[in-house]
Amino acid sequence: MKERIAVDKYSKALLRKVPEDVLAEELGEKYTDYRKRWHDAQTFKVRTPFPIHLDIELSYKCNLKCIMCPYGDPTYVHPAYKGQSLDTSRIKEIIKEGVPLGLSALRYNGLSEPLLEKSLVELIRYAKENGILDIFLTTNGMLLNKKMAIDLIESGLTHIMVSIDAATAETYNKIRVGGNYERVVKNVNRFLEIRENLGSQLPVFRLTYTKMQPNIGEVNAFVDMWKDKVDHIAIAGYLNNIQNKEQNDNLACTPLRPSAQTEFHCWQPWSRCTIFSNGDVFPCCMNYGRSTPVGNIFKEDLTSIWQSDRVRFIQDINRKGEYFKDPTCKACVSKRDIFEA
Ligand code: SF4
Ligand code: SF4
Repeated sequence: MKERIAVDKYSKALLRKVPEDVLAEELGEKYTDYRKRWHDAQTFKVRTPFPIHLDIELSYKCNLKCIMCPYGDPTYVHPAYKGQSLDTSRIKEIIKEGVPLGLSALRYNGLSEPLLEKSLVELIRYAKENGILDIFLTTNGMLLNKKMAIDLIESGLTHIMVSIDAATAETYNKIRVGGNYERVVKNVNRFLEIRENLGSQLPVFRLTYTKMQPNIGEVNAFVDMWKDKVDHIAIAGYLNNIQNKEQNDNLACTPLRPSAQTEFHCWQPWSRCTIFSNGDVFPCCMNYGRSTPVGNIFKEDLTSIWQSDRVRFIQDINRKGEYFKDPTCKACVSKRDIFEA
C-alpha cells in the first residue's frame, strides 16, 4: 500500500527524542493502549465507536497571511467561516461524550492560529483533566511569549509544533506574510529554555518546515540551525491547498500526480475527524472537508455523526482505495482539481 502524502525522509532522521517513548514513559499503559488502538484503526482493522483523535478549530482566524495558505490567497474567501468561533461549552460536552468511547487525542487547530484564543489554555487543562492523553498544538509562534510558554508547559500539552519554513528573515518574510522571523526564533529558544528550567520533557517540541520553491535552498541551513535544540524537525511536502492555481504552481517543488494514476488508501476517516468553527464535521484533518460536511455538532451528537452511513461510506471507499467515489476525497487526492470537482 503506497502513501501519497508523505513526510519527507529527513523527518525520521531528525528525531532527537521519539515522542512515543517520552509519552509512554510519562503516561504509562494507558498511552500504549491508545497507540495500539490508533494503529489498529489506521490499518483498517477496527471500526471505532468514536474518533480516537479530534481536530477542533476554535476559530476561523489567523494573524498571518502565509503564501501557501488560504488566508494568503486573495481569491479564497469562505464567508460562512470568516471570524467564526466555536462555543467552548460545546467543546467540553464533546470531550465528555468521547472519552468513554475511546477519544484519546485532540489538537486545537483547524485553519486557525490557536494562540489567538483566550480560552486555549483552559481548554487544554480541561481536556487533560477529563481523560485526553495526547494534546497537540500547531502554531506560527508569533504569540508564544514568556507567559504563554509557561502556561502551555504547565497545562498538560503533550506536543507543540511551530512552523517557521525558513532559515533567514528574507525568506521567512516572503512566505509567512505578517510574521516576524526574529521574534519567532526568540520565542522558540525561550520556550525551550523555560521547559528545561521547569524540568519538563513535555510538550515534545517539533519544528515544521514546509518545502516550497521559495525556501528549497534553505533546508540544510534550517536543519543545521535547529537540530541540536528541538526534539524533532519535520520537513513536509507542500500540499496544494489554495485556490489560485498559478500560485500553487509557483510553490510546488514537484509536479503533482494525476489522481487516476495514484494508488491511495486514506486511513484518516478511520481514526480522526475535524470539527470546524461553525460546528461542521468531516472525518479527516483536511480543509477540503469544509465544503462537504458529514454533520454538525450543534444539530446532533458526534457519536451519531461518526457512526452514520455517510462516514461509513467514506471509510469503506478509502479502505478499498476507491477515494474517487467521493468528490471531496477525489479532489483531495488529485489536489490540483479540488476546485473543479
Ligand atoms: S499561520 Fe497557519 S493558518 Fe495562519 S496563514 Fe500561516 S499557514 Fe495559514
Ligand atoms: S479528503 Fe478524503 S482522501 Fe483526503 S484526507 Fe480526507 S478522507 Fe482522506
